[in-house]
Amino acid sequence: MTDGTANRVTFFSKKETVCPVDGSKFYREEILTGRGRLIAGDLNSELRRLYEPSVKYGKINPLIYAVTVCPGCYYAALAADFEKVPESSLPELENGADSRIEAVRKILGELDYHEPRDTAEGAASYLLALMSYDAFPKDFSPVVKQAVCSLRAAWLFNDMHSESPTENYDYIARLFYRKAAFFYDLALEYEQSGKQSITAVGHLGPDLDQNYGYDGVLYLFSYLTLHYGAREDEEHRQQALRQAKTTVAKLFGMGKASKQKPGPLLDKARDLYAIIAEKLEDDEEEEADA
Ligand SMILES: [Zn+2]
Repeated sequence: MTDGTANRVTFFSKKETVCPVDGSKFYREEILTGRGRLIAGDLNSELRRLYEPSVKYGKINPLIYAVTVCPGCYYAALAADFEKVPESSLPELENGADSRIEAVRKILGELDYHEPRDTAEGAASYLLALMSYDAFPKDFSPVVKQAVCSLRAAWLFNDMHSESPTENYDYIARLFYRKAAFFYDLALEYEQSGKQSITAVGHLGPDLDQNYGYDGVLYLFSYLTLHYGAREDEEHRQQALRQAKTTVAKLFGMGKASKQKPGPLLDKARDLYAIIAEKLEDDEEEEADA
């Protein structure tokens, strides 16, 4: 334990990664999770797994390592997609390099993806993936991945807000929650119209520890519609809430055996249903009073 690696949380892969967009060569930062580094805490109502800091390793946030980012052109994608991007997407990704670099600089200043990542690099990695997935064809199901990336970006900007409460990162987090609401809605629409599959994506998270799959997408659509949905007018808002209520009811309703559904999701879906139903009732009472 005197080799200086005992307290390390990450390491740089020995295998070189070559960016398919600009040819930059780099080494991915990988996370070590064994030896009590990760102490799982609660699952919050956004299906995010919280971790307790360990005495030896401090606070660890596995989410900040899940996106591969090219340090040269800032092309970014979930690790499994990074090198698989088809050739037809490359011109768009090449053209987008300046706007990716500028988007990150505007919010977070200068970052260096050759160095070990901090929360800022992690948050920015999801913004970059969100932009890069615009160029991916439909068989990669980019829209639902943009939904997951938006939600994780919101989480990490909230973490940054806790670390530096005067920098307005909570405002940026809210922008990403709204983006997440938009993309989860669009992903369900695309799934239903056969435009892009949700179920073809292996890991839908939304966090790294467990895959809540399609049910998780239904739940998050309802949750985000309730808290961050578009509000053009009162009628539109109520209609969206009713849709959120019907959607979340599918998770525990219709007399289906719930054996294969993860228990925590079922409980959270019931709680969410009750909150939305109450909100709709309040609205109706207000209308009756008016
Ligand atoms: Zn690159």
